[in-house]
Amino acid sequence: LFITFEGPDGAGKTTQLKRLAAKLQETGRDVIVTREPGGTSISDQIREVLLSPDNKKMTDQAEVLLYAASRAQHVHELIIPSLAQGKIVLCDRFIDASMAYQAYGLGIDEQFVRSVNHYASSGLQPNRTYLLDVPIEVSLARLSHRQSTVTGSELDRIEQKPADYHRKVREGFVRISEQNRERVCWVNASRGEEEIAGDIWSDCNRLLNH
Ligand code: C5P
Ligand code: MG
Repeated sequence: LFITFEGPDGAGKTTQLKRLAAKLQETGRDVIVTREPGGTSISDQIREVLLSPDNKKMTDQAEVLLYAASRAQHVHELIIPSLAQGKIVLCDRFIDASMAYQAYGLGIDEQFVRSVNHYASSGLQPNRTYLLDVPIEVSLARLSHRQSTVTGSELDRIEQKPADYHRKVREGFVRISEQNRERVCWVNASRGEEEIAGDIWSDCNRLLNH
């Protein structure tokens, strides 16, 4: 079972992913938690290049291809082998993020981003995606709160982009969830942590008992 978490920066994906992993482990399941960009040594090196605020000169073309390269390594080195061993793989971001950030956000041709990522992942699709959706104001406020309260949590190259960019990304995620209703579970992430976790757990339970 391959489950992904998506949504704008500051939506609380990482927190919810950890909570779901803990629940699944409590019920005796073998779970792998991973993230993109990253998840393997090579993919993490690419993550550094993508997210370093020093790399402001990066072109849109290079950005699309580096996300896809990081994903290609991650899918083939970690995700597919783990699924083959019967593990549940929980992944923080996947191809929907490339559609939202690079296709909708940067305005790169949707068909192109889709096909380069289809190649990178050999067509692997999540069984379920939790889209944690928050209005742009909430997401930007959470980012600036994190920046001012957690030492060493400088915003990354993408997080530093203007509010207008983040607005397009969020709209992209909403559109993706509307177009993929059977796979994507839209979650109102403006609510409390417990309530959100409860909704995700009950959906996931249904999926497991299916
Ligand atoms: O989820 P996390 O914040 O760790 O993701 C790292 C960064 O990569 C985020 O700031 C996100 O905006 C960015 N990202 C992106 N395009 C993707 C995936 C992630 O711009 N396809
Ligand atoms: Mg982030």
